[in-house]
Amino acid sequence: MAQANIDPRWGDWAREPAPILEKQIRETLSSDVVVIGAGIAGVTCALRSAQNGLKVIVLEKSSNWSARGGNIGVPNSRFMREQGYENNLDEIAREWIKRCGNRCDEEIVWLFLKNGEEAMNWLLDIVTLPGYGCRPALQANIYRGETYREIFGSHRLFDGPMAKKGLRPGAADAVFAMYSEAVKLGVRFIFDSPAVRLIKNGGRVVGAVAEDKEGYFRVLAERGTVLATGDIGGSDDMCAELAPLASRCVTKLYTPKGCNTGDGHRMGLWAGGAFENTPFPLMMHPMAFYFANYCFLFVDQNGKRFMNEDNYIQGKMNALISRNLSYAWSIIDGGWETKIPMTLPYGGGLFWGRDHSPDESPFSAEQTAGMMERGIKSGQVVKADTPEELAEKTGMPVDNFVNTLRRYNSLVEKGHDDDFGKRKELLISLDKPPYYALKFGPSLLAVVGGLRVNTELNVLNEKNVPVPGLYAVGNVAGGRYGVDYPMLLAGNSHGTAMTFGYVLGDILAN
Ligand SMILES: Cc1cc2nc3c(=O)[nH]c(=O)nc-3n(C[C@H](O)[C@H](O)[C@H](O)COP(=O)(O)OP(=O)(O)OC[C@H]3O[C@@H](n4cnc5c(N)ncnc54)[C@H](O)[C@@H]3O)c2cc1C
Repeated sequence: MAQANIDPRWGDWAREPAPILEKQIRETLSSDVVVIGAGIAGVTCALRSAQNGLKVIVLEKSSNWSARGGNIGVPNSRFMREQGYENNLDEIAREWIKRCGNRCDEEIVWLFLKNGEEAMNWLLDIVTLPGYGCRPALQANIYRGETYREIFGSHRLFDGPMAKKGLRPGAADAVFAMYSEAVKLGVRFIFDSPAVRLIKNGGRVVGAVAEDKEGYFRVLAERGTVLATGDIGGSDDMCAELAPLASRCVTKLYTPKGCNTGDGHRMGLWAGGAFENTPFPLMMHPMAFYFANYCFLFVDQNGKRFMNEDNYIQGKMNALISRNLSYAWSIIDGGWETKIPMTLPYGGGLFWGRDHSPDESPFSAEQTAGMMERGIKSGQVVKADTPEELAEKTGMPVDNFVNTLRRYNSLVEKGHDDDFGKRKELLISLDKPPYYALKFGPSLLAVVGGLRVNTELNVLNEKNVPVPGLYAVGNVAGGRYGVDYPMLLAGNSHGTAMTFGYVLGDILAN
């Protein structure tokens, strides 16, 4: 029978497979809580639930917990206050809602804003314990202009055991520390065992069936079954229907590869849950390309300017993806050493200016020169003595590019960007050889949309009625964004995943 929560136009991914028979299940495990997925959301929820005295089993598809990325964004924290920073929650909420085109669920946004600080303080207490010894820092590299406001609150974690192993300082150490503490409290992590179905009894979700190399086993959960399975970015079929622009990102950077196939989204649907009503937003950074792109002159492969370069990082990626550009060129010239720092008081932010500087250290020409050298070697940066040569080397039509550059410099001289309205302070000439073209483009980090949840993080059905026993946190849950990933607070995907995992650990215990 057709389910109201499943759009009949969706492909096979949305069809529930044949039931798993009782005789196929070799073993039954019992718990208070079963958490499906050992990413940041799932591990936080598991640890917090265990701290509250609950018996927890975690099912994980891959052979380890998972994490990636450096920034964990929360509205405030004790650490921030000690550094003299405090954000106004009302202002963040208004900006967040605006940046999400008013399509996010304000109650969910406020659930984050009201609980983010407590959750972050709790996390900081854990990661700074002996044995983890992380050194917290705030991401100082934020966009300084008014138009695309960004705030402090993005936490980095340095010097932890995972960073020392060479992983990006941040989420890996957070998840490792929480995982280790959870194991100490008796949480059982079962790896290489993807959940494949939810179990329902009289309308209530009471656990999940998982599959390992020996077949099926089931985990029953008295208090709750928590979907924490991450995003759909690894499923081309789901992206095509729920987040069509994702397919335009030529690179997808999620690890462990093949694990973010929207399993929880589908299991949640089959159990009666409904998706949020908006298309699923994309989180995109130019990580697979040259690291920085600044704000001087952007041209497409046709040598034409196409946007106001004064934009924040997600905005730049949106501009490319919506024009179907898998990459573009950011042009700088031989005067970059003085010109880049001139822009930073007016803009800046991730991938513009300094690398992920954890403090207020000034622009480093040495660091940038090193990055450019590496870029030239890898082919992400093209260097030439003349504009004509730059166009030839990058494969742009020479006349187009030369005319674009001439036009751009004439607008600089005029002091007004007649074509795209870039601020006067950021109109800076490009006329000093050599010339550089930096390749940049969107790589997909995550698709941040999912199942409808209420402020108890209980999954809702098509009529917004809770599906008893079923919860969702992290990227499998919807409501946070609605239309776009709001970069006003870098790392808020980790921040919300961690905060909601923490909040849910308390909800399940009460
Ligand atoms: C390169 C990169 C850098 C990033 N940097 C940042 C950053 O700095 N800040 C930020 O906020 N965000 C960043 N992100 C995004 C961020 O990683 C995710 O948004 C975030 O980890 C989501 O957390 P989660 O717990 O919901 O899902 P995940 O971390 O994806 O965890 C989901 C887990 O569920 C498991 N799983 C999936 N299906 C099943 C199943 N059927 N059964 C059992 N287990 C299952 C997966 O194997 C995985 O371990 C980055 C992403 C990438 C790719």
